[in-house]
Amino acid sequence: MSSPTSSSPDVPTLKLLLVGSSSVGKSSLLLRYTDDEYLNPEEASATIGVDYKVKSINVGGKRYKLSIWDTAGQERFRTLTSSYYRGAHGVIIVYDITSRESFDALPTWFKELDVFTGSSDVVKIVVGNKVDKEYSRVVMEDEGRKFAEERGCLFVECSAKKGVGVNGAFDDLVNQVISTPSLWQNTTGVRPGDRMPGGVPADHAATSSRGNVSLGDPTGYVRENCNC
Ligand code: GDP
Repeated sequence: MSSPTSSSPDVPTLKLLLVGSSSVGKSSLLLRYTDDEYLNPEEASATIGVDYKVKSINVGGKRYKLSIWDTAGQERFRTLTSSYYRGAHGVIIVYDITSRESFDALPTWFKELDVFTGSSDVVKIVVGNKVDKEYSRVVMEDEGRKFAEERGCLFVECSAKKGVGVNGAFDDLVNQVISTPSLWQNTTGVRPGDRMPGGVPADHAATSSRGNVSLGDPTGYVRENCNC
């Protein structure tokens, strides 16, 4: 049996992305989903530079490999490149329910997604994070839901800190990706123009469940020179 992170053609690789303004909790959501962990704010800076994590899942008796990409803080510098988006099957667009600014930034993220993902099939979920801070809420749940509905997206509120709603958000996204086979079938994760099969460099995929390709490479988030 192949290992969960191998690039076996029998195991479709689904590439998921996290996008959204800085500090909305993207890295925290990723860590909660893949490791069921939450870092205290003082520890959180340690996640800077983590680009993706790989998780193996079973849906309906079939195995899938998820490569889930995090912006690793690069959104602060507006340097997300087309490579980040290329080959994505599903996108999690995150805002912070205590930050109006992060919610108001959503249309910009959608515009960027339209430009770079190029496929209307790409499944999107809008996620309002930090519901544990109900006392500081400035974006109502109905507003978030309405925004998502208007764009034909899934929607959920959650808390990476408390682990509320996080698995549900990823599960909803993955289930919809899987039920849209035209997105991923016959590709084993490779889509036209995708220079990194399944969004994961093969060398990393074979050895690691955690990627880190941007440390020491402040000029580009994803290896622009990768010929793999
Ligand atoms: P990113 O920049 O979008 O990746 O955000 P981070 O995951 O680095 O989180 C930014 C800050 O928000 C950190 O201080 C986290 O501890 C905090 N944070 C993330 N998720 C939650 C959450 O669900 N609730 C609360 N209260 N804080 C959170």
